[in-house]
Amino acid sequence: MDFRVLRPLRSLACIAALFGAFALPAAAQEGPKLYVFTSGSLGGFPKAALQIGATGNIDWAPVSFYIIKHPKGVVMFDTGNNDKTITDADGWWGPLAKGFGLKMTKDDAIPVQLAKIGLKPDDVKYVAVGHLHLDHGGNVGQFKNSTLIAQDDEFKAAWWPDVGYSLYYIPGDFAETKNMKTIRLNGDLDLFDDGTVRLFRAPGHTQGSQFMVLKLKNTGTAILTSDCVYMTESLDKNLLPPIPGTYSPSDAYKTYAHIRQIRDVDNAKLFIGHDAELFKAAKKAPEFYD
Ligand SMILES: [Zn+2]
Repeated sequence: MDFRVLRPLRSLACIAALFGAFALPAAAQEGPKLYVFTSGSLGGFPKAALQIGATGNIDWAPVSFYIIKHPKGVVMFDTGNNDKTITDADGWWGPLAKGFGLKMTKDDAIPVQLAKIGLKPDDVKYVAVGHLHLDHGGNVGQFKNSTLIAQDDEFKAAWWPDVGYSLYYIPGDFAETKNMKTIRLNGDLDLFDDGTVRLFRAPGHTQGSQFMVLKLKNTGTAILTSDCVYMTESLDKNLLPPIPGTYSPSDAYKTYAHIRQIRDVDNAKLFIGHDAELFKAAKKAPEFYD
């Protein structure tokens, strides 16, 4: 073997590898982008509905949902209030529509909202829900071609709720889920196996609640709490919602502690779905976090 021939060949291979690295397609180099939306709003209800012992009213609260554009596919986290409430709030939500001051307009419809960032429901590859309550699982049925990701316990809690815990579940919201592709979790998930989109099992608010943690290039760590936390104040002061907003107090406290730990260790940005101040300060779609 003549090594004088091999050496130049080896350096050629190195140069080729270098050029190969620069020639990666743009999509492979892009990190995920996070888009923040609200599905209408709630308002004019007692704060005590969100926090035991609270006084006064919540004047306005968002119903946040999120789109994450990842190079390997579009992910939605939570799905807002069923679009049927745009024309029939009382029929679909019953007394809760007035009770929570539900406001939905035709501009809140899922297809109209996704169009703001150039998407249709069929473009969404994965729909993950923090849980299946009416303001989070409301539109899962619009994503028939997506894979729905929830904790296995949550499907059971929604379809066959324990006595006293049915109030926030509307069977029509998730009727389609029996015909959908699903990932039924009993734990955590690193969705793309790259650490950028992770789900953490977090019972407490409901039996099968989960929250999402994103790693974004410029923003850093972002925690999308769904209803694992209702408001920043609840997390900071360790204050729980009343039944049926707390299925298990001891688990809810553990979930609070887990979220605070990630927040503090990673200096994470919190996206708490019903927190008015956080939502007002956040960039809203079509603006995004990357
Ligand atoms: Zn909830």
